[in-house]
Amino acid sequence: MSAPTPGISVFIRGILGYLRPYRSQSLLVGSLLVLESLLVALIPLSLRAIIDSGLIERDQRTLAVALGVLAGAGIIITAGGLFRDYVLARLQAGMLSDIRSGMFKHLQQLSPAFYARTRTGEILSRFSSDLASVENAVTAAAQRGILPALNCIVATIILIALDWRLSVIALFIWPWFLLVPRSLVPKVSDASYERKTRDEKIMIALQENVAAQPVVKAFSLEQFSTSSFLDRNADLKRSSNRAELLSALLERSTVVGVLLLLVVTMSAGARFAYAGNITIGTLVAFQALFLTLSYSLLYVTQYLSNLGPATFGMKRINDLLGESSRLADVPGVVELPRPNKSIEFSHVTFGYNPSHPNIYDVNLTVPHGASVAVVGPSGSGKSTLLTLLMRFYDPQAGTVSIDGHDLRTVANDTLRRHMGIVFQDSFLFNMTVRENIRLGRLDATDDEVVEAARAAEIHDVICSLPAGYSTLAGEGGSQLSAGERQRIAIARALVRNPAILLLDEATSALDPPTEQALNATIHRLGQGRTVISATHRLASTAGADMIFVLDKGSVVEHGRHSMLLPAAGLYSRLWNKQTGFTLHDHGDRVEIDIARLRSLPILSSFDQSLLTELQSQFDTEHYPAGRVIVHEGDPGDRFYVIVRGAATVSKAHRDGDNPDVLGVLQDGDFFGEIALLKDTPRTATVRATMPCICLSLRRENFTAILNRFPDIREQVTQIARARYAQLGQGWETS
Ligand code: ADP
Repeated sequence: MSAPTPGISVFIRGILGYLRPYRSQSLLVGSLLVLESLLVALIPLSLRAIIDSGLIERDQRTLAVALGVLAGAGIIITAGGLFRDYVLARLQAGMLSDIRSGMFKHLQQLSPAFYARTRTGEILSRFSSDLASVENAVTAAAQRGILPALNCIVATIILIALDWRLSVIALFIWPWFLLVPRSLVPKVSDASYERKTRDEKIMIALQENVAAQPVVKAFSLEQFSTSSFLDRNADLKRSSNRAELLSALLERSTVVGVLLLLVVTMSAGARFAYAGNITIGTLVAFQALFLTLSYSLLYVTQYLSNLGPATFGMKRINDLLGESSRLADVPGVVELPRPNKSIEFSHVTFGYNPSHPNIYDVNLTVPHGASVAVVGPSGSGKSTLLTLLMRFYDPQAGTVSIDGHDLRTVANDTLRRHMGIVFQDSFLFNMTVRENIRLGRLDATDDEVVEAARAAEIHDVICSLPAGYSTLAGEGGSQLSAGERQRIAIARALVRNPAILLLDEATSALDPPTEQALNATIHRLGQGRTVISATHRLASTAGADMIFVLDKGSVVEHGRHSMLLPAAGLYSRLWNKQTGFTLHDHGDRVEIDIARLRSLPILSSFDQSLLTELQSQFDTEHYPAGRVIVHEGDPGDRFYVIVRGAATVSKAHRDGDNPDVLGVLQDGDFFGEIALLKDTPRTATVRATMPCICLSLRRENFTAILNRFPDIREQVTQIARARYAQLGQGWETS
C-alpha cells in the first residue's frame, strides 16, 4: 500500500462542508432523529410499567396507559421515519449532485498538463466508484450511524437513572468487550483501502485495454494483456478476501462481546432481583435498554469500520478539487483586444518536462494577416508551438505575445475568443451538425452557423444529409466522411470569426483530392486573418507567406518556399524527400520518378535503363490508420516507400512489456531494404498511424534484375552493409 489510509475525519469534515447549503434540512433531520431515539427509549421504560404495575400489581389503568404510550410511540416513530426519509432523500440527492457538478466544473478549468499526466480511468473512477462509496456512506449515515449513536447516549442516561449499580457493572465492562473490535477497525479500513486501490487498477487496465484494442491486435498483445490482467485480478482477489474476512471477524467479535456482556449483566440483575433490590420490571427494562445500547454500539462500530472506502473516496474527490490549474488567470489580467498587429515568440524555451526542452530558444514574428506554415520532421515541436500560442502551457523562458501583450497578462477566454483551431482528427460530439458548429460560439444564430458552413464549403453537403443541419453527427462524427468532419471543424472554428486560425495537421490525414480541395478552401478563408498551419507535408504550404522550419525544437530556417528550396538546408531535403511521386486516379496508383528512385541509397548505382525497368515493378498499397504494414518476426520480402501518411516503427520488449516506439516514418521515408537482398525476419513492426499510401517492391523482382548484373549485386550489397553499419545494426545478424 503506497498511501496511508486517510482518517475518518476527512469524510466527516467533507460531508459537513457539503451540508452547509442544506442547513435547515439537516437541522430538521437531526431533530427527527433525536425524537426517534427518545421514543425508542420509551419502549423499555413502558415494559417496566407493564410488568411492575400492570401485570404484577394488576393495575389495568397503568397497563392501558403504558400500551397506549407504546402504540403512540410506534405511530410517531413510523410517521417521523417516513418524513425523515423524504427529507433525507432530497438532501442526499442534492448534496451528491453538488459534488458531481463541482467536480465537472473543476475539470473544465484544469490545464492540458493535468490531462496529459492523468489517465482517463482515474478521472472516471472519481465519478463512479469514489462517488458511489461516498453515496453509500451518506445513505447509511442516519440509520446506521447517527441514530444508533443517539440511542447509545439516551440509553446510557436512562440506564443510570434506572439502576446505577447495574449501570456501573455494565458500563465498566462494555469497553473491554469493545477493545477487540477497536483493534480490528484500522485493519478493516486498511484492507478496504487496499481492495479499492486494486479495484481501481483493474478499472484503469480495463479501460486502457478497450481503448488500445487496435494496438493489442496489431502487436499481438492478447496474451500479454490477459496475463497482466490476471495478475491484477489475483491481487484484487487476495485483498477482497482479506477485507471480507476482517469485516466478518469484526462483526463476529462485537456480537460475541455483546452476548457475553448480556450474560454478565443478566446474572447480576437476576441476583439483585432475587434479593429484592430491584423489581422484575426494572430488570426487564434494564435488559431491553441494555440490548438497545449494545446493538447501537455494534451498528456504530460497523458503520465506522465501513467508512474506509468512503473516506478514501472523499479524499480522492478532495484531491481532484484541490488540483490547481496552473494556467488560471492571475489577478490583474487584461482583455486582449482583437489582434491586428503581430504574434511574437521571443527566446521561447519550453519542455513538457522542464529539464528536457521540446522547444528551444525560438524567436519568430508573424505579422497580422500573414499565412504561415510551421514545418519539420515528426517530433520537431510543431504542435507544441501551437499549444504555446493558445496558452495551453506557459514557456519556461521567453515570452509569447500577441500585439505586444504577453499571453500571461491577458485573460485566457479573451485570448482564445480570437482563435479558431482545427486538429488532425477533429472531434465531433454526438449532437446535431448545427450544434457541433455552434460549439465554436455558443451565441451564434442559425444564420451565422449556415454562413460559417458556407465559408467552409460544407453547406451543400449538410443540406443533403437526411435531416440537414439537424442530422446527428454520430458518436465521434462517425456518420460523416473524414473530409466532411474536417470541414465541419473548420466551420466550427470560423463561426467565432477568429483573427487567428490555427491548423494542426488539419489536412494531412485526408486523401489527396480532399486534401487539395480543403487547402484551397483554407487559402480563401485566410483573407483578413492570420493563418498558422503546422504540418509535415510541405506541398500543402508552398504558397505560404512565411515558412518556419523546425528541427529538434529550434527554428533552423525561415523564409518563403522560393528562398528555402535553393538553400539546400533541411527544407529542401524534406521537399526532395516528399516529391517525385505522381498520383494517378486520386492516389489509387502511384508512379515514382526516376530521379527519386535514384535518390534511394540502395539504388544509387543503378543506371537509367535499370531504374526505368524497376519503376514499373512497384506496387501501390493503401493502409488505413491503425493497420500494421509489416510485423516484427514475419519473413520480409518487400521494400517499402511511404508516399503519404505516417507510421510508427516499434520493437517488442523481451520481457513482454509494451513495445518501444523507435521512430516515426512520414512522407518520403522508406524501410525494408534488407528484405530486397536477404530472406530474413522483420526486425521491427511498422504500423500506420495516419492513412498511408505506400509503394512496395518485391524481392523476387529485384533479384531477377540483380541476377543479370552480378557487379551491381556486389555494389548494392556494399551499400546495404554500409547503411546498416551507419544505423548501428549488424548486416550478418540482421
Ligand atoms: P510535432 O508536432 O512536430 O510532431 P510535437 O510538438 O507533437 O511535435 O512534439 C514535440 C516533442 O514533444 C516530441 O518529442 C513529443 O514526444 C513531445 N511531446 C508532445 N506532447 C507531449 C506531452 N503532452 N507530454 C510530453 N511530451 C510531449
